[in-house]
Amino acid sequence: MQIYFDHNSTTPVDPEVLQCMLPYFTEQYGNAASRTHSFGWVAEQAVEDARKQVAMLINAEEQEIVFTSGATEAINLGMKGVFETHQNKGKHIIITATEHRAVLDTCSHLESLGAKITMLPVQPDGLLDPEELNKFIDEQTILVSVLYANNETGVIQNVKQLSEISHAKGTLFMSDATQACGKIRVDVNEDGIDLLPFSAHKLYGPKGCGALYVRRKNPRVKIRAQIDGGGHERGMRSGTLNVPGIAGFGKACSLAAQRMWDDSRHISLLRTTLEQNLLDLGGVSINGNTRQRLPNTSNLSFHGIQASTFIKDLFQIAVATGSACTSALPEPSHVLKAMSASDEIAYSSIRFSLGRTNTMEEIMFCIEKIKEVYLKSK
Ligand code: PLP
Repeated sequence: MQIYFDHNSTTPVDPEVLQCMLPYFTEQYGNAASRTHSFGWVAEQAVEDARKQVAMLINAEEQEIVFTSGATEAINLGMKGVFETHQNKGKHIIITATEHRAVLDTCSHLESLGAKITMLPVQPDGLLDPEELNKFIDEQTILVSVLYANNETGVIQNVKQLSEISHAKGTLFMSDATQACGKIRVDVNEDGIDLLPFSAHKLYGPKGCGALYVRRKNPRVKIRAQIDGGGHERGMRSGTLNVPGIAGFGKACSLAAQRMWDDSRHISLLRTTLEQNLLDLGGVSINGNTRQRLPNTSNLSFHGIQASTFIKDLFQIAVATGSACTSALPEPSHVLKAMSASDEIAYSSIRFSLGRTNTMEEIMFCIEKIKEVYLKSK
């Protein structure tokens, strides 16, 4: 039995999504920018249909969606685009210490260009204290960026409150919603978000496709493009569009909207069963706020064990230590460290991220396997 509990790293493509993509590889292979024949028109229509579906998932307007190669590119476009456009007003950007590397590394680059970056600490449960944000915004602040839901712990920030604080001080608010979109309701208007990057492959769509939501009204957000040439995506992201990927992304968004409630109920039940059984072993604790958390994510510390060796013994079960994108690095998770976890807790932590197709049988198998390996290693 091979069990996949690493859906925050990536998800399988839903069969309905794949079916929707296939014709755009071999039959309807036109370039969406070709205006002189029906191959181009069909491709353009597929892109525009998908734009509606993607926009609908986050309650945005279609014209507010810019397609990219994924969330990393969307984050780069959002942050660098704001910095280039607004640096005459100020050069100060605020983020939290638990952001994804895509945000952290983009900020390091901007720092080398003269940006002043403030990285706010989080509380031990992973939440940012809104008062802390309020204290640090000044007249030089051009952007606040806070991760909607954390990829390692699933902790969901109080985005609405944080955006209100930012707007009251005249600052744009971005939220990396790569892990939130498709798992919980995200509404850019209700949440007051100006820029929102997300990705197809975290919600049962294809890899290599994502989007940046850019608000067009109240306020109209202006950002400088980061890829020039051809003027695609209303000049905000040039390059021939990935039509099959975009069509699949659209389908994945509309399936996510339809299934969110059922998926969430099913997955929460699996997670509760997993956590209750593992906590009963003793010496196991949950990392992160358990009330404001994605329904699929469980970050557990198995005290006294080294997670990297532990998961080798769980070879049939695909899980992660820390974030998948940084698991090549030997350092403890920067997210858990920012939550004031000791090295011992950070090194003993394992992330289980469940998905739509997981079953109770898999959960029971996993519990038994962990019991066996954990009790032997204690
Ligand atoms: N932001 C978060 C929170 C993520 O979890 C990830 C991927 O792990 C990314 C950004 C990067 O997404 P992509 O793989 O689409 O570039």
